[in-house]
Amino acid sequence: MDCLFCKIVCGDIPARKFCEDDQVIAFHDISAQAPVHFLVLPKKHIATLNDLSEENDKLLAGHILVTAQRLAREQGCQDGFRVVMNCNDLGGQTVHHIHMHVLGQRQMHWPPG
Ligand code: 5GP
Ligand code: ZN
Repeated sequence: MDCLFCKIVCGDIPARKFCEDDQVIAFHDISAQAPVHFLVLPKKHIATLNDLSEENDKLLAGHILVTAQRLAREQGCQDGFRVVMNCNDLGGQTVHHIHMHVLGQRQMHWPPG
C-alpha cells in the first residue's frame, strides 16, 4: 500500500518515533507547528475517521486518545495542549492514515484557520 505513515510504521521511512506498542506509534511531526507537536496513530491502516468502525475500532480509538494524553504529560504539556484530527480533504487531512496531532508549549487560539 502506498501510504506514507504505513511506511513509517514499518520503518521503511525514518521518523523521530518515541513511543510504540503493539497497536500505536507516536513520532514528532516533520513540520512542527508548536514547540511540542507529535502524532499518535494506529499501526493498522485506517484512511480517515470516516473509516473507523463502531464495531471493531472503539478500543483502538480510545487507546489513541489515552496514549496522546499520557505522552502530552510526559512531554511537559500537563498545563494544556491541543489534540486535532483532520478528516478528509475538506477537513484539512493531507495524509490519509488517521493520526491524532498533539500540540503544546505555546498558547493556542480559537477558532483554528
Ligand atoms: P494532516 O494534514 O493529514 O492532518 O497531518 C499530516 C501531518 O503529517 C502534517 O502535520 C505533516 O507535517 C506531517 N508529515 C507529513 N509527512 C511527514 C513525514 O514524512 N514525517 C513526519 N514525521 N511527519 C510528516
Ligand atoms: Zn497507512
